[in-house]
Amino acid sequence: MTNLAANLVATAQAHPDRTAIKLDDVELSYADLHRASAAVAGMLVERGISPGDRVGIVLPNLPAFPILFHGALLAGAAVVPMNPLLKDREVEYYLRDSEMSLVFGWDAGGDAVPAAAQAVGVPAVLVGPMGPDAEQLGGAAPVPEPVERDDSDTAVILYTSGTTGQPKGAELTHANLRTNTATTSKSVLVISHEDVIMGCLPLFHVFGLTCGLNAAVDVGATLTLIPRFDPAKALAVVARDRVTVFEGVPTMYAAMLHHPDADNADMSTLRTCASGGSAMPVEIMRAFEEKFGCIVLEGYGLSETSPVASFNQPHRERKPGSIGFEIPGCEMRVVDDEGRDVGLDTPGEIAIRGENVMKGYWRRPDATAEAIPDGWFRTGDIATKDADGYYFIVDRKKDLIIRGGYNVYPREVEEALYEHPAVAEAAVIGIPHPEWGEEVGAAVALKPGEKADPEELRDFVKERVAAYKYPRQVWLVPELPKGPTGKILRREVRAPE
Ligand code: AMP
Repeated sequence: MTNLAANLVATAQAHPDRTAIKLDDVELSYADLHRASAAVAGMLVERGISPGDRVGIVLPNLPAFPILFHGALLAGAAVVPMNPLLKDREVEYYLRDSEMSLVFGWDAGGDAVPAAAQAVGVPAVLVGPMGPDAEQLGGAAPVPEPVERDDSDTAVILYTSGTTGQPKGAELTHANLRTNTATTSKSVLVISHEDVIMGCLPLFHVFGLTCGLNAAVDVGATLTLIPRFDPAKALAVVARDRVTVFEGVPTMYAAMLHHPDADNADMSTLRTCASGGSAMPVEIMRAFEEKFGCIVLEGYGLSETSPVASFNQPHRERKPGSIGFEIPGCEMRVVDDEGRDVGLDTPGEIAIRGENVMKGYWRRPDATAEAIPDGWFRTGDIATKDADGYYFIVDRKKDLIIRGGYNVYPREVEEALYEHPAVAEAAVIGIPHPEWGEEVGAAVALKPGEKADPEELRDFVKERVAAYKYPRQVWLVPELPKGPTGKILRREVRAPE
């Protein structure tokens, strides 16, 4: 039995009454989740969905998401999760590119899904927050046992932009997701059916999908959902639901830490916090741990690696600022442009091989061959490895700023900005410059109620980094542009005219 949905069947047997999914006062037990998913699978089979067909899900974090996700998997389909904030044209692109057979949307989610589905001629089923109603299910016979799938069959296609161009679908197999889920729950988070996991990361993104939903289902933990991240809500839900495991991107940690409710929040149940998706500023990690009395473990991965590749794992020393070391079943190297290992403490590109690495990009053999030229997936991330085997991300290869021939990695300059007590968020970018090629610029959002002028911030960094690195131009913004998980999107930051 290799279908990823076998995890749900096993957990529904072992812990039928345990709460699987919670959204405020709505709770679904594992038996409920299995029953509802089996009904969805029956409906899909009745509608002619065959194993391997693509089924889309365009929903925020509502109980309908895990129901539809497992329903599609039970029926043997490959799931294509999409961001509910996408516009018609974007949804249309995914429907066409993946040759989708059916797409689920949210009945309160606007026109994008029905409009795109109509344009492409794909059936759309718009469901409520708890999934399809009896009429939509149409009395089809449920499919409670997963349709047999091979390890190498595709379970999920995740669209990711990679370095450039149109989004490509990373094909994650049943084996990729099963192994990465099991390793994450057992070796990294070390969770059991007694844990309560915060589900504020979007489930349509690989971090929330594997480390939140799939990890919870693997062991029978409870996943408590927040449809859209909000720091006050997250603080309140940790206290209300006695959350033991928090997972988020660094901007979520910063927003909770700096929120006025943080002083009185009861975070005493928190045990493990996992951070990933972008670099965790060490200042924020330390302040969060101090304030809330928990440990924050940083890890690293990508959509293409299911996602977890490395983590600060609990059985060894944690190194702040590091993404830890390889998880079991995954190998990592730091290589030069020719694929040769660079030495210790020398920057190079991270290359990954292992049971978590995608099969390839959906119907893009050229892009797949470029990304995996020799069996090792090239991540586009620059890192160093220390003598203890810990990796430190320097930056994205493509975000490197070259000022007058000198390399400036934005992250280092941002870390210096975060040391300033008034800084909440910072993004450092290259600005075209006639003399230097590129100049270093920084967009900064201040903490609520704090004051600092751009010159002060510039001088603050100037004292901390080499002369060619400090930002000549600093400007204040109310907020930085962020992606769906809350990652700061450096590439969308623009310098003022
Ligand atoms: P995605 O495919 O959306 O999950 O994005 C993957 C990218 O997120 C990686 O290529 C990295 O650039 C970035 N990333 C993930 N985790 C970290 C981390 N701990 N530190 C720095 N960057 C990270």
